[in-house]
Amino acid sequence: MILLVFVVAVMGLVYFVQTTFLDDFYKANKIKSLQSVGASVSSLIGDDSFEDEIEYLMMSNEVCVRVVSNNENYSYSGACTLRGLDNLTINAIASEVDAMDNDEKLFDNFHYQRDFRDKPEDVYIFAKLLNINNEKAMVLVSSGITPLSATISTIKSQYVLILAIIIVMTLILALILSRYILRPIKQINAESKNLSRGEYDSKAVKVVSKEFEELNETLENANEDILKADKAKKELLGNVSHDLRTPLTMIVGYGEMIRDLPEEDNEENINVIIDEARRLSTLVDDLIDISKIDAIKLELNKEDISLNELLNSVYKQYEKYCKTQNIDFKLQLSDDVTINVDVKRIKQILYNFVNNSLNYNTKENQEVILGAEKIDDFYRVYVYDNGEGIEEKDINNIWDRYYKVDKEHKRHHIGSGIGLSLAKELLTAHGMNYGVESKYGEYSKFYFDVKPA
Ligand code: ADP
Repeated sequence: MILLVFVVAVMGLVYFVQTTFLDDFYKANKIKSLQSVGASVSSLIGDDSFEDEIEYLMMSNEVCVRVVSNNENYSYSGACTLRGLDNLTINAIASEVDAMDNDEKLFDNFHYQRDFRDKPEDVYIFAKLLNINNEKAMVLVSSGITPLSATISTIKSQYVLILAIIIVMTLILALILSRYILRPIKQINAESKNLSRGEYDSKAVKVVSKEFEELNETLENANEDILKADKAKKELLGNVSHDLRTPLTMIVGYGEMIRDLPEEDNEENINVIIDEARRLSTLVDDLIDISKIDAIKLELNKEDISLNELLNSVYKQYEKYCKTQNIDFKLQLSDDVTINVDVKRIKQILYNFVNNSLNYNTKENQEVILGAEKIDDFYRVYVYDNGEGIEEKDINNIWDRYYKVDKEHKRHHIGSGIGLSLAKELLTAHGMNYGVESKYGEYSKFYFDVKPA
């Protein structure tokens, strides 16, 4: 609609300018060319070839030129292609110009009737008096003024036709725009209002162009992400509260037992309380880390450390526990190289790998290996276990946040489904390659590659 009004307004303006001022433009142009031809002719008189040049000027400007003088050499009365002036007229003009102070004059309301025309015509005559070597000469340049009313009425009817065509074309364009652009935008807009509730229905939007299809897909993906994040948030809350409740129950239970039964006040029971408190602390740390990653606050504190020293210290953390649990936990060291890493973070990743290896293993002869091996110019640090392994369908997802293969799994350790996603973020921040090799039911080997400093 706006488009239509705009087009009609522009056309109206052009129409008004053309029809109202065309006549004036035309006359002003004529006068200009008469004056310029007059000036040119004046400067040419007396030249050898001035007659040829005048003829050329007459032709190219569609005017008629006469030069009247008593000196033959300065006169010119070539055949005019347009309008000839008879001697009577010339004399009348000459006497009028002669009588003036000014040496040039434009006669712009001159009516002149030629022999073969039945009506006098509107003629413009520019007259210029010259004094060449003390001899008088008068240059006359004339041109007929064609009435433009016929032209203007042609233009008018043309405009009406053009306007009609433009209106029809604009309407067609508006229809196309509305069908192919506005309607999908409206539909997408209406649908995207449901996005925050995760109710975007991409099928409700009829898309007709690739761009809309892509926009629709992007919104559909956003919709899926919202649903996924929502589900994950609920699951995480469920897991975290469950994981918080178990150690808290243990701490309260053991604490009360020690308080009420003095004979239970022994190291073993106190260690249970300490262990459970540590688990709580790990979970809280994980949650803090994940929130830091979200806010991109994570900063690495890199330092040089011996690879073997680092692996040894992780190994020591679990050595005793594994012995008591009858788990075959081995350390396989490679060259003692120095690496430059955020030690706290790398240990955190290895703890997570080892914890998982202990968690996801129900076999009798449980085996876990923490080690390093040289490959090309880097060292692959790994945690291997002969546990339950990972199914192929899950292997690409386990690094995703909140992803847990088996929700019913009974855990011995804290697990909220964020450990590996945290490891992924930390390893990516280090710029390290990482991954997992696994065969379902047989083994898993989680690793990352580190280059010597
Ligand atoms: P969680 O807290 O659930 O252990 P993680 O991010 O550490 O979270 O691990 C994600 C999932 O990957 C686990 O739920 C588990 O299904 C799988 N997984 C991780 N490590 C192992 C492993 N060593 N053996 C088998 N499955 C594993």
